[in-house]
Amino acid sequence: MPIARVPVVLIAALCVAACSAPGSVSPPSSDVIASDDVADEQGSPDDAWEAGGDGAALDGRADEGLAAGDGDTADAGPDAATEAAADGCAGRADGSWCDGRSLRACAGGRTTGVTACADGCYDRAQGSACASDAVDPCFNDPDGAYCGAAIGATLRTGDVWTCRDRRTAQIDACAMGCEGPFGAGRCRVAPMADPCARASSGDGAYCGASLGAGARDTLYQCRARTTASAMACAHGCAVRPPGQPDFCNPPPGGGGSGYRLPFACGARVPVTQGNNSSFSHRGTQAWAYDFGVPRGTAVMAMEAGTVSHANGSVVPGGRCWNGGGSECANVVNYLVLAHDDGTSSLYLHLDAPEVSVGARVARGQRIARSGNTGWSTGAHLHVQRQGRCGSWFCASQSMTFADVGMPGGGASVVSGNCP
Ligand SMILES: [Zn+2]
Repeated sequence: MPIARVPVVLIAALCVAACSAPGSVSPPSSDVIASDDVADEQGSPDDAWEAGGDGAALDGRADEGLAAGDGDTADAGPDAATEAAADGCAGRADGSWCDGRSLRACAGGRTTGVTACADGCYDRAQGSACASDAVDPCFNDPDGAYCGAAIGATLRTGDVWTCRDRRTAQIDACAMGCEGPFGAGRCRVAPMADPCARASSGDGAYCGASLGAGARDTLYQCRARTTASAMACAHGCAVRPPGQPDFCNPPPGGGGSGYRLPFACGARVPVTQGNNSSFSHRGTQAWAYDFGVPRGTAVMAMEAGTVSHANGSVVPGGRCWNGGGSECANVVNYLVLAHDDGTSSLYLHLDAPEVSVGARVARGQRIARSGNTGWSTGAHLHVQRQGRCGSWFCASQSMTFADVGMPGGGASVVSGNCP
């Protein structure tokens, strides 16, 4: 039965979203980055950028000399050997190297050129480069977390980039993309898994369409912003103004499935027993519903019909007025409406019917006061859809409330029996 399963599924979905957040990964590993070039630019920031910083310390003296522009004088003077040994390119492969705040071009173990980098440089496997926004998207950005797209990254635009000291410190993979303000990017999480989390008008019935979540044409019974039950509306879900419960549209042409709860529009009532309950809704009563309302509660017609049976003979002081055992099974106040589709509906345990046999009533019209007469263990209203069998009590038939579906015992429902 889907109603019972929905919350379980939702909980599972919540757990997926909350319990296994996308992992944090080290900045791009080669299996993530497709392009070699970009992989270099964004690759291994730990190694590259620490190397750049260390370079300044290791080769500080040599840098000073080279920064003066005499990088090519190593072999010119009497101390050529010493100079060569001090050349920042000594022992380095040909290519460009980052020495802290300058780029050193090396060939044959010698420095062939030095380029100052105002903002430092990055070591890269395929040629180092001065720091720039083109090399590291974090270059222009203060410390913080950013969606890749927000800082001009060309890859992993939907991941979260953590920038520190104008460099990429970390990239977090986001399974569902990135969101959040500039400087506070975060991985997008699954939309609230429980549509009722969006129920902004209190407990009650909401179409998915009015929640902006879940299935549009499913009616959700929301309690404390959690789905208590849900039913798919075969004929669409009717969105009502805020404060009024939504409901499932009845099928075209009416019929029993157009029934609404037998209470005033917006009234909240507890379901004390649903269908096929082991307590007493078995056999001929299997499809009945009990609502735990205090005696005297206004009872409304679930569907338009004509009063076919009514009994108000049980009066205060009578032995079955305030509930009794099986001896009270037929000493009970009731009302039966005959409907146009050939079925009828029974309202049982009443204090009194308020309409007479033969009267035509509209859906939502007040027809009785609830009570505790008959075979009953406490004040409540028992209703059931039934055939027409010549008696006031016939075998029950399955009934789906257009406003709340088929609620089970323990549910709290809000009547959508509205004008
Ligand atoms: Zn009952």
